[in-house]
Amino acid sequence: MHCKIALVRGDGIGPEVVSAAVEVLEKTARVFGHAFEFLEAPAGGAAIDAFGEPLPEESVRVCKESGSVLLGAVGGPKWDSLPGHLRPERALLGLRKELKLYANLRPAKLYPALASHSPLRPDIARAGIDMVIVRELTGGIYYGQRGRRSSDLGNEAFDTEAYSEAEIERIGICAFELAMKRRKSLVSVDKANVLETSRLWREVMHRLSESYPEVEYRDMLVDNAAMQLVRRPAQFDVIVTSNMFGDILSDEASALTGSIGLLPSSSVGDGAFGLYEPIHGSAPDIAGQGIANPIGTILSAAMMLRYSFSLNLEAQRIEDAVGEALRHGLRTADIAGHRTAVSTEKMTQKILEFV
Ligand code: NAD
Repeated sequence: MHCKIALVRGDGIGPEVVSAAVEVLEKTARVFGHAFEFLEAPAGGAAIDAFGEPLPEESVRVCKESGSVLLGAVGGPKWDSLPGHLRPERALLGLRKELKLYANLRPAKLYPALASHSPLRPDIARAGIDMVIVRELTGGIYYGQRGRRSSDLGNEAFDTEAYSEAEIERIGICAFELAMKRRKSLVSVDKANVLETSRLWREVMHRLSESYPEVEYRDMLVDNAAMQLVRRPAQFDVIVTSNMFGDILSDEASALTGSIGLLPSSSVGDGAFGLYEPIHGSAPDIAGQGIANPIGTILSAAMMLRYSFSLNLEAQRIEDAVGEALRHGLRTADIAGHRTAVSTEKMTQKILEFV
């Protein structure tokens, strides 16, 4: 198979972890007889320095002409004082919009070798964590009308949440389809006891569930979901929820696994195209030292193979290789604990061996 992959290396540790993932992808291509073509799409601080803007049109074109995008991370103190429209983070919002990505998939998985890194009680962690949170990404309260106005009590501020049936349906379908590829269990999280948007959300999810009889479907209120994530995370396979609830719950779920350096994510829309990135930022405090954990980006590359190119065996091979490297005791500084830490390069080489 010939796959075109756009690379947004970004800033800080972004270029270091993307290079590691590219090495793993190249080895995977050799092992399985594919050709992966990599195209550079500068964005973020690096693009501000080179072209004076965070998301050059040419980079958007390269991304649109590719089958998927692999992104490191953007941002850093160097660009923090720039005005809003010139900040590196603008590149992320711009890419999501230009590429019409409305669903954010955030897996949270606890590797048995790293169970002691979880803040959970050992018996709860041992039961396992392996879930994906599907977060609606382009609607809800983050995009609703907001403002300030005067009231009887003086100055007040307001934010509004609106969801259309069509927006709920497309994220619902994305979650049900994902559940069908996993353990066929879906929890939809809302606040239907209070919010009208949640009541519509629930109606649409119930309607969709009739088309997916094989998926075991449940509703859960968001306050209960926040609690269940720490009390019994093993019960979750796929969770689908709105933009704001997903923002909060996906960070909670990742904290359960012990290190943000380990976790991948993807943003997808209609069709197979997706943008894949680790959940961490550009980590300016460790950039250039060769000590960043490359696993989040390597697993993002695996997700890309599975979801954008339907290369399931290849994705599984990479995920297993990561598991093996951890089982053999290799640890970057962020997950080393009392062990000796290895460099980004050493961790990558070990993963390559197992691919
Ligand atoms: P961060 O995720 O970059 O770093 C938080 C802490 O985790 C730091 O101590 C860092 O060293 C550590 N860390 C992160 N990734 C690691 C890895 N792979 N290996 C080892 N340690 C790792 O978050 P921050 O410090 O809040 O943000 C730094 C910059 O990144 C900011 O400019 C922010 O805007 C940007 N950011 C970008 C994205 C993105 O591109 N999607 C996401 C979050 C933050």
